[in-house]
Amino acid sequence: VTPGVSVVLGTRFATALPEMAVPWQAVETPAPRLLVLNEPLAAELGLDPEELRGPAGVGLLTGTVVPEGARPVAQAYAGHQFGYYNPRLGDGRALLLGELPGADGRPVDLHLKGSGATPFSRGGDGLAAVGPMLREYVVSEAMHALGIPTTRSLAVVATGRPVRRETLLPGAVLARVAASHLRVGSAQYARATGDDDLLRRLADEAIDRHHPASADAGNRYLALYEAVVAAQADLVARWMLVGFVHGVMNTDNVTLSGETIDYGPCAFMEGYDPDTWFSSVDEGGRYRYGNQPLAAEWDLARLAEALLPLFADEQEQAVALAVEALGRFRPRYEAALLAGWRAKLGLPAGLDDEVARVLVDDWLALLQANRVDLTSSARALSAAARGDAEPVRELVLDLAGIDAWLERWRALAPDADAMDRVNPVYVPRNHLVEEALAAATAGDTGPVERLVEVVRRPFDERPGLERYAAPGPGGPFVTFCGT
Ligand code: AMP
Ligand code: MG
Ligand code: MG
Repeated sequence: VTPGVSVVLGTRFATALPEMAVPWQAVETPAPRLLVLNEPLAAELGLDPEELRGPAGVGLLTGTVVPEGARPVAQAYAGHQFGYYNPRLGDGRALLLGELPGADGRPVDLHLKGSGATPFSRGGDGLAAVGPMLREYVVSEAMHALGIPTTRSLAVVATGRPVRRETLLPGAVLARVAASHLRVGSAQYARATGDDDLLRRLADEAIDRHHPASADAGNRYLALYEAVVAAQADLVARWMLVGFVHGVMNTDNVTLSGETIDYGPCAFMEGYDPDTWFSSVDEGGRYRYGNQPLAAEWDLARLAEALLPLFADEQEQAVALAVEALGRFRPRYEAALLAGWRAKLGLPAGLDDEVARVLVDDWLALLQANRVDLTSSARALSAAARGDAEPVRELVLDLAGIDAWLERWRALAPDADAMDRVNPVYVPRNHLVEEALAAATAGDTGPVERLVEVVRRPFDERPGLERYAAPGPGGPFVTFCGT
């Protein structure tokens, strides 16, 4: 007898966009074992942690127990991967279980990753390994705690089924919660069908779920596009301020909601260098740290192409509107980045933007020339604002350079407390993430649990956690996509 589960899931996506939803079911799990459960998130969603920990709950979290009335689907989408268009990507190892009412009343997707092959698997096995699913769990939780829009992770369940990669690895399913899984690639897919009604329904869904103010605009679809451009400009600025390198900014990994999605090959930059990237499959460094705003802008141009028929009847006019809207990306991004850096450096509100910009650029030049850790240097700087310049001077070889910069900066009376509210002490550093994932793969989830506890309060410096605040040993660090 299959135990039931009390969770009620909506069928909104499947109903509104049936052309992009293939009813599907998850593969059986031979020996499911809950590895981590995000209790704060469960509580926010009104889910009962006790139920989720039980057999029916674990079944829900792996897709093997489907609540009555739910209709799990694999979602179709297209996308440009590293610049090359693929008309048919889709959920190759994922399923949308359905929608839950979110904390603010808006529906959120409950989605699985690693739940077995689908019609979109393209020869892949449809599976996921414990390590990468826990990476998504840890890093998305950290991003959320940093205040950066992101999908979240509700749980990771080990399946008991081995997954063949370079070696045999323990398999897992991640349960993910997102404002939605609508992406640039979803619009590309809808457009490619040639069915303008489908494209319009997709855009209406994005407006309704993410950008409701666009509904009141004279040209609602152009307003939607402008809202996505703004959300992505703000998002990428937030990434840059914490040194987040997404690693695979393909159009299928860019959401219409403005949430960060797909924590495959992501990592945090330590020593400041815009030429930093980690992904083994990103041979040319297309998605390097310093290229992220350009990559986002490129992806948004693809979104404009997809939505073009909705902007105006005349193609020429539609293109002109799209170009103007996309033109707002750069100023929006630059403004968000500068505002963020002003806060990171504790600069007074009255300071002229141009003066601030030069000060920021000079700071970054010092960091880059000396390969200084982006995260810890900001906290060392707040110590300098309080009168102790030694921690920051210790990070830099160019003492004359740092002393001259500190003198200019201190003359502006930077606010150290305000700095500590925006500069994290703890981010999920690559060597700590790797160490925790290796332990979990070997059967011990303790280090993952501890790391999550640390990064959940990123701004709150605690004694005994020095190890989590310090940069890694250095040397090459490589991430692997799609494992
Ligand atoms: P990503 O680069 O993670 O955004 O994935 C790109 C595409 O590859 C998506 O359509 C995924 O569903 C698909 N994919 C990734 N890994 C697998 C896998 N192991 N089996 C089947 N499809 C996969
Ligand atoms: Mg993806
Ligand atoms: Mg991925």
